[in-house]
Amino acid sequence: MTDCIFCRIIKKEIPGSIVYEDEKILAFNDIAPQAPSHILVIPKQHIVSVTEIKDDLLIGDLFKVVNKLAAERGIDKTGFRVVVNHGKAAGQAVEHLHFHLLGGRDLSWPPG
Ligand code: 5GP
Ligand code: ZN
Repeated sequence: MTDCIFCRIIKKEIPGSIVYEDEKILAFNDIAPQAPSHILVIPKQHIVSVTEIKDDLLIGDLFKVVNKLAAERGIDKTGFRVVVNHGKAAGQAVEHLHFHLLGGRDLSWPPG
């Protein structure tokens, strides 16, 4: 998907502040952080949304990376939130599956 901004970050066609990479997963700092830690964890495979996940192992792999990054930042101790927006009403702006990892401040509930 050449027109997908996250695929372009994966291919290093545009810069991303990458904090983790393996053969299947990339994680990078959100360009407009909503918390002191705001990282996007994405599969390298172009999957439009959470509803399109076919690979059972993928979710586990994504969460392993979420947990590793949270532990590195100490937000596993203070608290963090994982957000996946799907579709218009939830405000999904980029149609490439991404987990938001948010932490480093108190997060209000319910979300907006
Ligand atoms: P969504 O609203 O789709 O759940 O979240 C998309 C996220 O991607 C937003 O938090 C937005 O700030 C982030 N984002 C959009 N374009 C870029 C980009 O080019 N680089 C980075 N690092 N983040 C981006
Ligand atoms: Zn993509």
